[in-house]
This record gives sequence, C-alpha cells and structure tokens, in this order.
Amino acid sequence: MRDLARSDLEALVVELGDAPQRARQLWRAMYHELRESFDDMTFLSTPVREALQERFVIGSLESVYYATSEDGTADKALFRLPDGELIETVLMRYAPDGHRKVRRTVCVSTQAGCAWGCTFCATGQQGFRRHLSVGEIVSQVLFMERIARAEDAASSEGGRRSAGERRGVTNVVFMGMGEPLANYENTLGSIRTLIDEQGLHIGVRHVTLSTVGLVPQIVRLADEGLPLNLAVSLHAADNVTRSETMPVNRRYPIEQLVEACRTYIEKTSRRIFFEYVLLHGQNDSVEQAAALGRLLRGVLCHVNLIPVNPTGEGPFQRPTRACRTAFQQTLRDHGVPSTIRMEKGIDINAGCGQLRARIAGGA
Ligand code: SAH
Ligand code: SF4
Repeated sequence: MRDLARSDLEALVVELGDAPQRARQLWRAMYHELRESFDDMTFLSTPVREALQERFVIGSLESVYYATSEDGTADKALFRLPDGELIETVLMRYAPDGHRKVRRTVCVSTQAGCAWGCTFCATGQQGFRRHLSVGEIVSQVLFMERIARAEDAASSEGGRRSAGERRGVTNVVFMGMGEPLANYENTLGSIRTLIDEQGLHIGVRHVTLSTVGLVPQIVRLADEGLPLNLAVSLHAADNVTRSETMPVNRRYPIEQLVEACRTYIEKTSRRIFFEYVLLHGQNDSVEQAAALGRLLRGVLCHVNLIPVNPTGEGPFQRPTRACRTAFQQTLRDHGVPSTIRMEKGIDINAGCGQLRARIAGGA
C-alpha cells in the first residue's frame, strides 16, 4: 500500500466508492499516525475497507536483527523482505550543538545489493539483487520513526518542546545499500511520500541523496524542482585513481561528472556535497588533495572527507590523523570548504552493507 503516491491512493479510494476526503484520512492514518492495519479505520465505508484489506497490506518489513551501538548514538536494523532479500537501515542520533536542535537521521537502502562494485564498499562486493519499491524505502523510515517517537515520549523533554517543533526522525539520507539514482522512479516516489505535508512531513532540505555519479540522472534530477541535498561520491580527483576503486568512472569519467554537477548547481542554485572516502595510500596524499582543490575551485560545493570504514575483505585502511589534517588544509588553501566526518556505529557494522555481509555471509 505504501507504494502508492497520494494522488494514486485518492484515485483508488474514489474508484472503490468513497469520497476523496476518506483517502486523505487514510493517508494521514498511514503516514502521520503510523497505523499498520485497516481494522480500526472506521472512517472508511465497510466495503472499501474490506476491498483494501483483500488487496493490500500496509507495510511488509520483517526485522530480523536490531542492535544499538555501545554509546547509544546509532541503531542498526536488518530487514527481510517478502522474497527473502535482506536490507539494512541505520538510525543515528545527534545531540544538540550550539544553535542546532536534536537530530535523528535515518539512512535508508534503495536496492538490495548494488551493481556498481566500488571496491571499498561491502554492498558493492555483494552484487546487485533487485530494486526496492517505494513502499520498501518509505517503510524503513516509518520503522525508525516509531522508535524515535517512543524515545520522545519517554524523555521528559518531549513534553516541553515548543508547539509545532518536529521531533521523531528529522533527517533522511539515501546512503544505505544500493545506488538511489539507478532506482530513480522509486527513490523519487519515496522522497515525495516522506516530505508530504499530510504525512511524515520530513523537510525536503533535510533529505540528502548520495549518488555514485550517474551523469544522466544527475541532470534529470536538476529539473525535478526538489530542493534536497545532493551528495556525489567522488573519492578521487583523477580518472586513473578513481577507476581503480570505482568502476562507474569508466562509464562517466570525472570531467563529465563535474560538468553534470555544474549544470545541477546552475539549475538549482544549490551547493553539492562531494563525498571523499579517505583510503590510505590510495587517494589521501597532499598532491591528490591539491588536485581535488584545483578540480573543485570555484564550484559551489562542500567536501565531506570520510576516513574509510574498513570492510571484511577490503584492503583499505584509515589514514592517520596527521594525514587527514594535511589533506584538509590543502583543500582549504585552494578555497574548497570541507569537513572530516567520522562514521557512527562502527561497533555495530553500521557501514554500508556490512551487517548483511556478516549475517548472510555475503550470499
Ligand atoms: N550508492 C550511493 C549511496 C550509497 S553509499 C553512493 O555510492 O554514493 C553511501 C556513501 O558511503 C558513498 O559515498 C560511499 O562511497 C560510501 N562508502 C561505501 N563504503 C564505504 C566504506 N567502507 N567506508 C566509508 N564510506 C563508504
Ligand atoms: Fe554501490 Fe554506492 Fe557501494 Fe558504490 S559505494 S558499490 S555505488 S552502494
């Protein structure tokens, strides 16, 4: 049922014989009240309720594993889909800092597996299984929203928040398993459901989509009129180095990718976040930082430097602190802003695809 856009749901309810207003109530029941059963939806006429019950289930995620990191800032869930596929979802908690309020970010998967085979990525090493549906993507956020609301209710602060302030899940990042822009329609469909004002109402500016760098889809996304945050996985500033770890670079080399990013920025007036996973000895030298600085000088962007989360079989290690700082300083010298981002939940295998690899043995 969560595969349907709001307009499709409305058309369905009307076709079955109830007024459009009932469809709006149904949408609210599913995405605002988080109801999972039609049983007590007495606002629907009995025949419509029975017809829906016969044809649909509201959600279909079975949680087979759930863990919280030792410091309590990250939870990780492994879900089994009806056809047996396994996907991962992560919930991250950020304490208030300065003017920023408490944030809870959910990292969702968009595919079971991934076809792009980046060598440092646990998902990439598992191969492509299938695309996720809109409902399967949205349901990951709803699952974590239920947990977040329970936490809000339990904390005394929950009662004191100012009217209209949103708690629960505040941010969604498309950085779990799979390549979101390879599953373009369903990814965009899920974003439209998540940001709908009558439902969960995640602020679109609190949604971040990360892509391996699919050029045609980046250009297409620029015309969607969705002011979300776009993150592009760059991970190298020259084609030889990038192709060594990212097979996608042979299809869409760096020049084409940066050109597509410039188009995106021009059309949307939004900055792009470039992800740069630091792989020691591969892409973390000061010369490579300088090349990155030259490549991105004058581009409206921010670079996220991410020390690699070493995977089971992967050959890569994290750079030393001195190495990271020198890299960042070189970027700064070129006028390119960056942040070094340490990943959360290392102890629960919160990195992309790592839990599934451990539990399913990479099958
Ligand atoms: N397919 C998309 C989104 C999912 S991966 C993409 O590649 O952008 C989300 C981010 O995690 C990407 O920037 C990816 O390069 C990064 N990543 C993958 N494996 C990692 C690892 N072992 N350590 C740190 N980051 C990793
Ligand atoms: Fe796929 Fe992204 Fe992993 Fe590359 S990093 S294999 S594109 S999920």
